[in-house]
Parts: sequence; C-alpha cells; structure tokens
Amino acid sequence: MPKPYRLRLPGPTTVPERVRNALAKPVVNHRGPEFGAVVKEIESHLRKIMGTANPVLLFAASGTGVMEASLANTLGTGDRALFLSNGQFAERFAAIAKGLNLQADSLEVPWGKSVNPALLAARLAETDYQAVIAIHNESSTGAVADLEAIGAVVRGTPAVLIVDSVSGLGGIDMQQDRWGVDILLSASQKALMCPPGLGLISVSEKAWKIIDGNAPRARFYWDFRKARDNAVDGQTAFTPAVSLGFGLCEALRMIDEEGLPNVLARHERLAAALQAGGAALGLPVFTKSPIRSNTVTVLQLPEGKDAGSIVRHLYENYGTVIAGARNKLDGTVIRFGTMGYVDDADIILDLMYLERTLLDLGWPVVKGAALAAANESFSRT
Ligand SMILES: *Cc1c(COP(=O)(O)O)cnc(C)c1O
Repeated sequence: MPKPYRLRLPGPTTVPERVRNALAKPVVNHRGPEFGAVVKEIESHLRKIMGTANPVLLFAASGTGVMEASLANTLGTGDRALFLSNGQFAERFAAIAKGLNLQADSLEVPWGKSVNPALLAARLAETDYQAVIAIHNESSTGAVADLEAIGAVVRGTPAVLIVDSVSGLGGIDMQQDRWGVDILLSASQKALMCPPGLGLISVSEKAWKIIDGNAPRARFYWDFRKARDNAVDGQTAFTPAVSLGFGLCEALRMIDEEGLPNVLARHERLAAALQAGGAALGLPVFTKSPIRSNTVTVLQLPEGKDAGSIVRHLYENYGTVIAGARNKLDGTVIRFGTMGYVDDADIILDLMYLERTLLDLGWPVVKGAALAAANESFSRT
C-alpha cells in the first residue's frame, strides 16, 4: 500500500479528480473564443458565490498578490487605511500597506474575537480613512467577521470596505452587494478546491469611482482598470494562468451542481462535527460560537502541551497534514481545513488519527469519545 497523504491544511486544500483532469487540458490561445467562454463562465459562477453583480477580475497570483492589488488601486501617498486586526492575516494586510508607503492604522481586537461595529463607527467619526480593511474568515484563529454590521457602518462614509475572503469564499455565506463590501478578494486554493495561483477580485461602483479618479496610484500589473476593460471580452490584461482557469471553471461547476446552499450547509455540518470531536478529546475550539468558522477549525491545546509534536506525529504516522500556527499562537493550537472537497469520512478519519496520535503521545484520552461526539453531531444535521 502506498503511504497515504491527506492534505487537511487550512489551504491549500484537496483538489478533486474532476478539477485535476481539467487542469491537464491542452493550453489554448488565451485571447481566443475557447478561453473567453471559460472566463465568462467563471465570472457567472463567482458572481453567485460572491453575491454580486460586479465584474469579476482574475489575476495570476496568490492571495497576498490580490491583497496588495486592492490597496494599490484605491490608495496613494498620504492616504490612510484602517485595518480591523484580530489575527495574522489582518497583520499581514497592514504590513503590505506599510510596504506600499501607506499610512496603516489598526483597530486592535483580541485574537479569537471580532470587531465591535460601534467601536469602528467611533473610529471613523474621529479620523478620515480612505479604506477600511476586514478579514472575512481569519484563518489564524477561525473567527468570522460580521460583515453586514461592518458594511452598514462603512457605507455612510467616504471609505471603501476591502474584504479578504480568501478562506471564506465558497464555504461561508458572502453577500457582497447586500452587505456593502466594495472590494472583495479571494484566491483559488481554499474552499474553491483548486491549486494555488489565481487571485479573484470584484469591485463596487463606489470603489470604481476612486479607482478611475485622477489621483496618482502606483500600479501596472495590478491595474483594475485594464483588468475590467479586458474582462468585457472574456480576457485578462496579461497572459492568464490558462490551466488554472480550466481548473477553477470545473470546480465552480461542481459547486453549482451541488447547489451553493448545500455546499455552505455541508461546511457547517463538517466543522461542527470536527469541533465536537475535538472537544471530546479535550481540545476545545479556539474561537467560540457565534463567530467560529466553518472553513477553518482551530483547536486549543491544554496549558503546557505542544502543538508541534501533534502536527508532526499526525504527518509521520498517519499521513495527515494539518497546521500549527506561525504567530503568537505558535505551539498552542492546531488547525484543520474544513473547506472545499471534504466529506463526513474525512472528518471521521481526522478524529480517528488525532485520537491515536494523542494516545501514542501518552495523553489520557477516552477511547472512542471523539468519534461518538462527531457521529452525534452528524445525526443532528
Ligand atoms: C490563505 C489566506 C490568504 C492568502 O495567502 P496566500 O498564501 O498568499 O495565498 C490571505 N488571507 C487569508 C485569510 C488566508 O487564509
């Protein structure tokens, strides 16, 4: 038997066979009708998942690339951005702003919590910001932002609301237009079941007014205006990642066939079962309901226990690849992806191997309790 390899990270995630076959198609002319149809189909599926009527722009990039692009298009020298900071990805976003010589302020929130909209409103009343930046699903902690409430606060101000939904989109509900999200960015390798390499963006009317304005901006590859003008014809400004386009189109067809509400409900059901099983092993979920994530499950270890040994043991003995943390939670949490191409059996195996790992490492766990808790959770949904 070949050694199993179970990719259970919070991204990149497992790529289904249908998508892998699509990735293997012959490369075609990126300005011809065949690829044009693919770009158009991607856009029509993504509009539903994003909850928007905006054009959708594609870039060959990891998620961080489109984070940078969203700032480069909306902000210039002297402009000030406010980062709603409750985890590692919000910190990265603010670091990108500093790298672009923008003024980056943070509204600090304890990790595992989400921002209080009233505090945001007070901050916006006090200082003029050109942009507010929020992380939809903070992958370092498993906290989900209340974008409806945040959007309601930002909507009445001159600021644009920029949202990173790299690890949310396709696994957690997103209503860009209804919630007043001005720039929504995501990437291919999380709940969208593709390899890394495609960045996705959609832009509101309010943000287009700023992007199209006369203020100088440092942008070329990332210029949303060029991307929009090309998207009209099903093209991208520069050579796109053609193969990834085929793959993403296939993945979006799979989501469409399952039905978006069913996909979102499946993510909820799987996360709840994994979190119930974790709790039965003495590993409670780090971020509590109602803001806990359905796409990234972060389990907290008891005081004095080391995450690194669990992550290593799961990989070396059970071929199961999960994540620890590379930030201030380092050593204290373990993280699983519960997004994309995942089903009940994956969660059962996760818990079986996690229980074995803890037993191997000499923890006093009750045998079978995790699987019983997961099955009990499954039977309720
Ligand atoms: C994965 C992720 C990103 C993007 O990271 P890349 O490695 O650049 O693709 C951005 N934000 C969040 C919240 C993420 O989970």
